[in-house]
Amino acid sequence: MAEENVKVAVRVRPFNAREKARSAQLIISMAGNQTIIKDPANMSAEPKNFAFDYSYWSHDGYTEKDGYFAPNDNRYADQKKVFDELGKGVLDNAWKGYNCSLFAYGQTGSGKSYSIVGFGNNKGIVPLACEELFKSIEEKRKVADKDAEFQVTLSMLEIYNEQIRDLLTSKTAVKGGLKVRQHASKGFIVEALTIVPMNSYAQIESKINEGTRNRTVASTNMNATSSRAHTIVALTFVQKQKNEAGQNMTKTAVINLVDLAGSERAETSGATGDRLKEGSSINLSLSTLGNCINALANQSSGKKKIIVPYRDSVLTKLLQNALGGNSKTIMIAALSPADINYQETLSTLRFADRAKMIKTQAVVNENPTD
Ligand code: ADP
Ligand code: MG
Repeated sequence: MAEENVKVAVRVRPFNAREKARSAQLIISMAGNQTIIKDPANMSAEPKNFAFDYSYWSHDGYTEKDGYFAPNDNRYADQKKVFDELGKGVLDNAWKGYNCSLFAYGQTGSGKSYSIVGFGNNKGIVPLACEELFKSIEEKRKVADKDAEFQVTLSMLEIYNEQIRDLLTSKTAVKGGLKVRQHASKGFIVEALTIVPMNSYAQIESKINEGTRNRTVASTNMNATSSRAHTIVALTFVQKQKNEAGQNMTKTAVINLVDLAGSERAETSGATGDRLKEGSSINLSLSTLGNCINALANQSSGKKKIIVPYRDSVLTKLLQNALGGNSKTIMIAALSPADINYQETLSTLRFADRAKMIKTQAVVNENPTD
């Protein structure tokens, strides 16, 4: 069992049209592993510095070629760079039989979905990882025993107002949402969730598109297409092969890819009425995520055993392994470059700073085939 820290990446996006229209000021800079943020109310004050495992400058230095944001200098981090550094590592670990989790945190409009799923030709980590996984399975099949098996399944759900909705079914949503149950070895699992076997990248792509269409999209003042829900795409990768002693072994890796709802407080997005109520429920999952991360960070800094309140929200139940258990975990903190988002961006950086203190204990999930 290898104990290791959660890896944290930060990524800063370009100005959006609204920010350009009001001549937003750039308050983020990056140098090496440092991310530096200036307080726009006090530009001459000492800026605040944070260090992360990966720092992605995606603010400028790109040109759009066939709709793809391609780098025109070596500073700009495009989707390929982020996938090569984060996504490929996830796949390598999945091949070894480790559970992997990757989640994106940040306020609405900061670039979470861009990194995780992507838009148009700018495919994010989820589609690129699926594409790569099937490519390497095909390669592996050519050299592996003919009775070796490689199986991939997909599930996709969203958590909205503390209720779980299956995104891969056309059936009307179960009233009150799907139930979560604690499983002896797997941790918390979602009952009656659709789990679909996948045989090709094309299949997975069309299923994920179907799931994305089923997502609850509610517009807020922040971003007309923003989702107020947490989305979890889970891939299970199973390998059945003989080991050197000729014994039939099964390796299983669960890959959780999580696009969290916007981390902003409801009041800053101008939400009212139902939207506001949603905001507070979303904040229950997100504030519990924050509480869990604080407890875990305190635990790793040597303070005595603290109870981690995983059970306080649906999100943290489902992310329990990702946060403090059997998983190799990466967090991407998505940052707005603009002065107007200073407070939210600073709180995202602080959140990310605590997340990097968390330790998980991933084990190779390998057992004799039954
Ligand atoms: P979120 O999911 O956090 O609400 P999105 O991923 O939808 O935010 O991003 C908001 C907008 O910014 C989108 O139009 C997206 O295309 C753009 N964007 C985000 N990150 C980048 C990036 N790294 N490069 C180019 N455009 C980006
Ligand atoms: Mg999004």
